[in-house]
Amino acid sequence: MSNLPIKQLVHDALFQSQDQEPADFIACRNCNQPITANHYRTRVHDQHHHRFVNPNGVIYDVCCFTAAPGSIINGAATALHCWFQDYRWQFAHCEHCAEQLGWYYENDTNESFFALIPSVLSSTN
Ligand SMILES: [Zn+2]
Repeated sequence: MSNLPIKQLVHDALFQSQDQEPADFIACRNCNQPITANHYRTRVHDQHHHRFVNPNGVIYDVCCFTAAPGSIINGAATALHCWFQDYRWQFAHCEHCAEQLGWYYENDTNESFFALIPSVLSSTN
């Protein structure tokens, strides 16, 4: 399974756009690599911002994005402890410093999104 061609297209559209305002980028807080942008913010189950508790009791705040071209998707897709019903998740890491930024979700109808952790990004809304 590879999503690299699509990822590359989105990557080019995001990072080579001439009229993109720098403030629209959302970067990795650890290394400043641009990860996504404000115009990729989206709603899943009618909310952009979600709060979840993992099986160990750790609270996670995540925000949803349609794309995160600055991230790398890692690991096998799994539905284990999945926060979003009918989706499978994989890890999403910064492609520059490998910091974990959140998760990538995809379902059987090829709907997909990223749920990213605001506290590890340069923009927290
Ligand atoms: Zn980084």
